[in-house]
Amino acid sequence: MDRIIVIGAGQAGASCVAKLRAEGFDGALTLIGDEPAPPYQRPPLSKAYLLGDMALERLYLRPSDWYAENTIDLRMGQAVEAVDAAAKTVTVAGAALPYDALVFATGSTPRRLPAEIGGSLKGVHVVRTLADVDAMEPEVTPDRRVLIVGGGYIGLEAAAVARKRGMDVTLIEAAPRILGRVACAETAGYFRDLHGAHGVTIRENVGLECLNAADGRVVGAVLTNGEEHPYDMVIAGIGVTPNDVLAEMAGVTLDNGIATNARGQTSDPAIWAAGDCASLPYRGARIRLESVQNAIDQAEAVAKNILGLGEDYVPKPWFWSDQYDVKLQIAGLNMGYDSVAVRDGGKARSHWYYKGAALLAVDAMNDPRGYMIGKRLIEAGKSPAPEVVADPESDLKALLKA
Ligand code: FAD
Repeated sequence: MDRIIVIGAGQAGASCVAKLRAEGFDGALTLIGDEPAPPYQRPPLSKAYLLGDMALERLYLRPSDWYAENTIDLRMGQAVEAVDAAAKTVTVAGAALPYDALVFATGSTPRRLPAEIGGSLKGVHVVRTLADVDAMEPEVTPDRRVLIVGGGYIGLEAAAVARKRGMDVTLIEAAPRILGRVACAETAGYFRDLHGAHGVTIRENVGLECLNAADGRVVGAVLTNGEEHPYDMVIAGIGVTPNDVLAEMAGVTLDNGIATNARGQTSDPAIWAAGDCASLPYRGARIRLESVQNAIDQAEAVAKNILGLGEDYVPKPWFWSDQYDVKLQIAGLNMGYDSVAVRDGGKARSHWYYKGAALLAVDAMNDPRGYMIGKRLIEAGKSPAPEVVADPESDLKALLKA
């Protein structure tokens, strides 16, 4: 194994090259990213960075000289154009680079509002890259009206920041409720109330019909219920699609992204995948996880497995979201839950997802203790009775010893 190429200089790509060097790989290592910036963290883009509370330098995952010090050929602002799996080469900047092992860490692309309904007008934004946020930031000013399309975590975080920066914020969600894909009705209710208390208007069961324009810029929207309102800016938070075009070109199997086995290897033994672009087997299903923790852990497992260390990647899902003064921490995956136990400790609150008697996941709002103990219980395969966790007087820590 002499030459490893990693495509995508994001969270997974940066973690993969770091782990390869940490495990002693001393061959040629190339990390190629199409963004102009060195690898950076995305979560602050819809939180502290958009709010203006975090300096650009703090977004970067490593100091800029770290890559050269570790003999990593970091190529920024270069998009890989093609992969030839038979010849084992990638084409970038017109040159074919040979590889012995190739890693796709290409991430995902935000869905955009269709151009036919005004999605490409000026003033219509998505939140994925530093460039996206730098482009929208000057428009986030007091008293302007923003329409946020999509009530997932990105949309809700953008709503919180826009509101904190004094904007008049309306969020629409076409589904019956916000967070419908990712959280229970109780968690959705908690965040609906939180946003309401901060003056954000949340409209559920309401979609976007089309945007109105003047001089190529968005000036309003027609909603699916026939209402028409003026808006100065629109932010779409309507999900992402995995970046798997190059993998398809390479002929590897796709299935909700780039299909990998438990070791992160694709249908081509020399090609691996990690992060948002990769799907993996999990409890009899095939899932794709869009989180920092997954990007890091899966990429590190891939690095080890390329070097023959033979390690199955078992996700230990956790995720967080910051909205106003609430920190949401999520442990586990709630896929398939059939009941929720609510532990209402006043300011600290947690929602515990069960399938039958089995504890699957916990959403903890300003409740680091509930989160930490829930996480440990889930990882240990322990499932306390729902009525016990729902009692705010019960000693959660004691459950770990039970
Ligand atoms: P990315 O970080 O997207 O990196 C992929 C890189 O590959 C990109 O730079 C892309 O441009 C590049 N690329 C693609 N194709 C090519 C090509 N052909 N040639 C070269 N380069 C290419 N997760 C959490 O756990 N908690 C949070 O609070 C949270 N908040 C988030 C907030 C926002 C605004 C966003 C956008 C994401 C958030 N996430 C959060 C999700 C998390 O950031 C992602 O899951 C994580 O970044 C995935 O890492 P990745 O390396 O797979 O993809």
